[in-house]
Amino acid sequence: MSSSSPSTSNGWYTLRDLVSAPRSRDAGNSLFRKSFPGGQLVMTGANSAVGLRSTPVRYLFLDEVDGYPGDADGEGDPVDLAIQRTTTFRGRRKIYMVSTPTLKGHSRIEAAYLDSDQRYFHVPCLHCGDMAPITWARIRWPEGQRDAAYLVCDACGGVHHEHEKPRMMSAGEWRPTALGDGRTAGFHLSSLYSPWETWAEIAQEHARVAKDPARLQVWVNTKLGESWEDQAGDTVPADPLMARREDWDSDLAPGVAVLTGGVDVQGDRIEVQVVGWGRDEEAWVIDYRVLWGDPSGPRLWSDLDGVLNGTYGDLPVRAVAVDTGGHHTKMAYEFCRTRLASRIWAIKGRGGPGIPVWPRRPTRSNKAKIPLFIVGVDAVKDAWNITMVISELENHMAAAAGLFPTWDLPQDQHRVGALAAISKLPMGTCFGLTV
Ligand SMILES: [Zn+2]
Repeated sequence: MSSSSPSTSNGWYTLRDLVSAPRSRDAGNSLFRKSFPGGQLVMTGANSAVGLRSTPVRYLFLDEVDGYPGDADGEGDPVDLAIQRTTTFRGRRKIYMVSTPTLKGHSRIEAAYLDSDQRYFHVPCLHCGDMAPITWARIRWPEGQRDAAYLVCDACGGVHHEHEKPRMMSAGEWRPTALGDGRTAGFHLSSLYSPWETWAEIAQEHARVAKDPARLQVWVNTKLGESWEDQAGDTVPADPLMARREDWDSDLAPGVAVLTGGVDVQGDRIEVQVVGWGRDEEAWVIDYRVLWGDPSGPRLWSDLDGVLNGTYGDLPVRAVAVDTGGHHTKMAYEFCRTRLASRIWAIKGRGGPGIPVWPRRPTRSNKAKIPLFIVGVDAVKDAWNITMVISELENHMAAAAGLFPTWDLPQDQHRVGALAAISKLPMGTCFGLTV
């Protein structure tokens, strides 16, 4: 129902004649249900289990599936729930899924596309006739002049300028690139084909976002229509801290005496970092995990229990700071409330001068009335700035805690508070952050 396409609005008026007027009193006519001769259109939200299991459906259209929650009202995956509605029409049904992809390995649309015949729109080279998809790797520009971006042909090196795009598009065609499961057609299209966006604009935006992984992810997802691999790839500038990574064979780096954990809650995931502490405040990142799912339900938190109850070598995780200042605060409070005895503590970061890294005692002025440790994030930053020369490393302060295993550390500012907190746990392994 895009309003940007003139042809859609023609279709819109034709459709309007087929459904009842918005105000007519008719069971088959509401905001989310429109009857028309031969059928009815039912619309529902991916978060509504009731809506998803209400009606048998022959034609199912699932829009932006990568934005769906992992679970609808505790009844399971919304895509599975919706597809179950089509089983009575097996053999005659059609299921359409559309989405901008998100994270590699966690993208519904990517998984569906990989099951399909993986069609790409191939356009001809105007010089040699070679048929190929338009990809980012084929977009080039003269040094320093992204506003003059053009498309090259891999076969002959021929150059194509923006004004030639319509001619290439009109001579293009969809070509499958995989066998697939024999019943799923998959179509990939990026903004590089768009008549409303130029290669120059996309290249310029790339320059603006290239150094910021979060914005670069959005660019990769929305402009290239590709999933994002959550690691420092070629496009992310090398991080000086990465050079300090070292390898060790077992679960534990030698020299680790005590393990602590930091937990960060996001809208669609929980991230856990386990840090090992040794003599002279040396620290190692022992484990880093991203638990994908919906933090508003219990399942993800029980996964978190599993991680925190684990051992590395022979060592258990002795204390944990859970950042409750972000998403799903209520669930985070609840998780900590029943685990005080296991030294799983709720923390919250607060900026401003004079707030120490770690308070003498927790506050209870929160909705759950649980002990909450307020972490002074500015004090943390100051401490880091003193101990490291890190003007360019603001986003990597967690990493500065010590040496890294050779796998890449995700870059996330939110972890600062949690890490600072675990480094101040009262067990004789302070990280020298008392400022
Ligand atoms: Zn060519």
